[in-house]
Amino acid sequence: MLTDKPWHRSTSSFSESLITTRLMRSSNGAQSTIPISEYFGELTFGLGQMREKLPKDIYHNLVKALDQGKKLTSETAEAIATVIKEWAVQKGVTHFCHWFQPMTGLTAEKHDAFISIQHSNHSELTVIERFTGGQLIQGEPDASSFPSGGMRSTFEARGYTAWDPSSPIFIIDGDHGKTLCIPCVFFGYHGEALDNKTPLLRSCQTLSYEAVEFLKCIGDLDAKTITATLGPEQEYFLIDKNHANARPDIIMTGRTLQGASAPRGQQLEDHYFGSIPARAKAFMVDLEYELYRLGVPVKTRHNEVAPSQFELAPIFENVNIAADHNTLTMETMKRVAGRHGLVCLINEKPFAGINGSGKHCNWSISNDKGENLLDPGTTPHQNLRFLAVMSIVLQAVNRHADVLRAAIASPGNDHRLGGNEAPPAIISVFLGSMLDNIFNSIEKGEANQATEAQIINLGVGHIPNISKDYTDRNRTSPFAFTGNKFEFRAVGSSANVSVPVSILNAAVAESFRDATTRLKDLLAKKKNRDEAIMELVRSLTVEHKYIRFEGNNYSEEWKKEATKRGLPILNTTAEALEVLHNDKATEFLVTTKVLTRAEIESRYHIAVERYNKTLEIELRSLSELASVFIVPALETQIRDSGKTLAVLKTAGAKTLQSKRLESMEASLEAILKYHSALIVGLDALSSKGDEAQMMKVIATELTPLAAQLRQVCDEVERCVSDALWPLPKYREILFMNNQA
Ligand code: ADP
Ligand code: MG
Repeated sequence: MLTDKPWHRSTSSFSESLITTRLMRSSNGAQSTIPISEYFGELTFGLGQMREKLPKDIYHNLVKALDQGKKLTSETAEAIATVIKEWAVQKGVTHFCHWFQPMTGLTAEKHDAFISIQHSNHSELTVIERFTGGQLIQGEPDASSFPSGGMRSTFEARGYTAWDPSSPIFIIDGDHGKTLCIPCVFFGYHGEALDNKTPLLRSCQTLSYEAVEFLKCIGDLDAKTITATLGPEQEYFLIDKNHANARPDIIMTGRTLQGASAPRGQQLEDHYFGSIPARAKAFMVDLEYELYRLGVPVKTRHNEVAPSQFELAPIFENVNIAADHNTLTMETMKRVAGRHGLVCLINEKPFAGINGSGKHCNWSISNDKGENLLDPGTTPHQNLRFLAVMSIVLQAVNRHADVLRAAIASPGNDHRLGGNEAPPAIISVFLGSMLDNIFNSIEKGEANQATEAQIINLGVGHIPNISKDYTDRNRTSPFAFTGNKFEFRAVGSSANVSVPVSILNAAVAESFRDATTRLKDLLAKKKNRDEAIMELVRSLTVEHKYIRFEGNNYSEEWKKEATKRGLPILNTTAEALEVLHNDKATEFLVTTKVLTRAEIESRYHIAVERYNKTLEIELRSLSELASVFIVPALETQIRDSGKTLAVLKTAGAKTLQSKRLESMEASLEAILKYHSALIVGLDALSSKGDEAQMMKVIATELTPLAAQLRQVCDEVERCVSDALWPLPKYREILFMNNQA
């Protein structure tokens, strides 16, 4: 029988009443589900509702301001605020907040009540609901404790939030009242970006501008704006709250820092796409209900590869909205999990020995007509455009593979990248054999006429159908073409997608700009436009051929091959972040207007500091686990085993028991040794001078030391009596309470 531990009780507190709001009883008493369309977006107020509710001229002013990137006049803002307030108050909202994404990687909100005091004649105070245009469009949170990477000295520590009207306003319907959230950008006194949204919006603008210039050049004269689209697939773990609460490492860091592998992990491959356990399903249904009301178009849910691991995928949207929605999704997941007695782990590597979690960022670009430019299409012109845009994206990844790698660097993702479960730290692009062959023939000059017949011969038109079936299969690639979009798979599960996506947008924008210049040159020399485009495609194909890789990204040969090709191999966050210091990266980010020099430098500092702080918390948590949980259990076991040895009679048993004791003593010694070295190292960190130096010491000295400490602790878990073991084990966390 298993020892009875406090965490064995399931905290499942899920009650059917949580979901009955979505059920209606028909006249014969049978229950049926309310169609999603009836409550989808009911907690949001976006451009659609504004068009409906605002006076025509006010709505027109808003759209004009949006299109031209101009400020709203105070009358317009006032009129909008009034309509929003009416809608919100009628929904039972009492407070509003500017909702923004500072560089902590989380979101921030500061709530203010919708009230204003009025003095009546008899100097009595009356409270009225009030929300002004000024409150809608701008805020000034006390921002001195948000990271700025040294950009704001204390005397200008002010930060400002400004409404981003392109993303819908929404209501958080919490357990204790409702709050109106206004999506905002966050910036400093001199306009410097202090958040993740501002660079994303800037990158969208540059991308749209450069792509339109290129499209005009290839004959798409009516192109006005280009939109980047994103569908982020979110992976996560669900574990019982009792298990989480009994593990100081999970409480402190969101991941386990110790834990021997359970005899069963994911080797039976029985979890992936398996039937969803009832408890997880109840969580998902509840989560989806919340998300639908917030206008988040969640579409897919399934089990992932590891036990207790799951995935959620939305329908793709404009990247800015998709990024807000993903942040909102992560927050809602945590909130809803709590209600179900569960904890949702979004960390990239909550458990050793089984898969970690990623966030595959499906990305594409489309024109005003909604045509996906990465969709080969049906006409020869669309096919040629497809080839051109494809080679432009390939060129972008080829040029800025290192910055893309830096954009996904985080302590959590360091555990994934390069492990045989997730893409490697080397960025390459997988196209699928069909498209790969097409680019190979183009490179060899087998299709340089760009005639209709030749394009058809290349087989571009068949790609959507064929790649739907085949291209998705290379799960080892960090950046894979999957039929009509790219899938950036190396992004970590806890990432704010704005960071990698703004870099990707910027890289593609730069590549469009370069392609436009080259195409203009070619057009100046040749008469036939299609031939000029084909020649551009061919020259790009030659240049970016080294970024293409169709093989197994996990193999050792690939690492050698990538080294030969000169691709950047940046295994750790510490190495990847240094990219932000090189001239090529700086020039690229500055000329695409995504970040200024000062902003790049500040982001570097913030990332380094976050790395150091995260790692310091992890290392201190591990040392605590070792010294106050594991060592005492081991001491008791040694004592008990010693007593047993004293009463043993047979020589064979005595010898074996002595050996067992010796090995436990050796483990105790090793733990004490590594533990004290780790503490000495941690205590010496602050004397290292700058943060970059600290990062180096953590990455190259302390982390390997911690790995040794953990390994001994894991071995000890296998020899100490289960009754004495003070922490929930992997087999309990991953296989109990969640699996029914
Ligand atoms: P697959 O099975 O090939 O991965 P899915 O249709 O399941 O494709 O899509 C996976 C994710 O990719 C979803 O979130 C989906 O919305 C997103 N996606 C599909 N098309 C696009 C696109 N044009 N741009 C961005 N994301 C897309
Ligand atoms: Mg997936």
